[in-house]
Amino acid sequence: MTQLDDSESPNSVATIGQMADLLDEALLLTDGSGVVLSANAAARQLFNDQIIGQLIFELIEDADFGKAFHKTALKRAELEIFYHPKSEIIRREFKLRLKRLGDGPIALLFLDMTRQKNLENVRRDFVANVSHELRSPLTSLAGFIETMLGSEVPDEAMRTRFLTIMDEEAKRMSRLIDDLLSLSRVEVDEHIVPDDQVKLLDVLLTVHDSLAGRAAERGMVIKLNDQRADKVSHPLMLGSFDEITEVFVNIIENAIKYGTANTQIDVRIFEVSANRLQIDVINHGEGIEQRHLSRLTERFYRVDKARSRQIGGTGLGLAIVKHIVNRHRGTLSVASSLNETTKFSVVLPLIHVKSKH
Ligand code: ADP
Repeated sequence: MTQLDDSESPNSVATIGQMADLLDEALLLTDGSGVVLSANAAARQLFNDQIIGQLIFELIEDADFGKAFHKTALKRAELEIFYHPKSEIIRREFKLRLKRLGDGPIALLFLDMTRQKNLENVRRDFVANVSHELRSPLTSLAGFIETMLGSEVPDEAMRTRFLTIMDEEAKRMSRLIDDLLSLSRVEVDEHIVPDDQVKLLDVLLTVHDSLAGRAAERGMVIKLNDQRADKVSHPLMLGSFDEITEVFVNIIENAIKYGTANTQIDVRIFEVSANRLQIDVINHGEGIEQRHLSRLTERFYRVDKARSRQIGGTGLGLAIVKHIVNRHRGTLSVASSLNETTKFSVVLPLIHVKSKH
């Protein structure tokens, strides 16, 4: 039998360490006083790369954790607590299992419950929203169908009018379902940053080209204005091309819908710092009163519900935008002055890719 040297032995600490790196869950070991002795790859990603030697109480500043840790250390108990990292922009939820290994170190295992929690919330909201928001177009449709089935609709013009309204209501229901599904998708995975490389200028050009026709119908022009110092480089970010596209489609579509006909929509692109790009979408129009601004990204919040319905809105566009921007670790803000301009600003983190030469 071939003798394995220690580094190849299945029981060696190195082998167990490598196996721990395969886990999606963060796993670390501390001594009895809380100094981190070892951490797998997921734990280094959750906290930081220099975690070894740090005091766990500085990484997890939570009274419940402190109590659970000391109890585990003293009584050799196995405990489980809930833990929400305070530093994360997006709320994440972990089940944290603590166990003292004999008389030795304490093992901490972090089970990520975020997706499961998000799914529960999304399912609850989805059911509530579907039943509430779909009821009105459905009632309207059913009413027209009943009228048309029950009595002879006197003339052709009336028939066409009814059918046109029914067609609009059916399309509205379909848009609502699309938007609700879109919102659910981003909400469930909001804690995970998508990892494709996205060229931001390509996104903006795509959105420009797809909406230029709609803008022209209202006599409007969408103007891309690259104000970056270095116009040669391609700003790159980690994300999802489709989701970032959806952000700017929604914002620019709103500028077309709520802006004044025959005006220009400005899309300005500039650096806020070496690794953050800002994109402003500015339109002329009646604007939004101050008191509404902070609520615009709530689902179904509309300044003028009747008007939004009439122009085909669902009230979900900006909620979707907000969640996608959060997911990409960016920020969204809005400023508006009545009867002048409205400006939506999106700031997104950039990555720098080293050139090959
Ligand atoms: P909707 O489908 O109603 O457009 P959104 O979530 O996209 O829903 O927007 C929410 C509300 O914000 C709109 O109903 C509208 O009142 C307001 N709004 C959004 N963009 C603008 C804009 N550029 N100018 C004025 N009001 C806007």
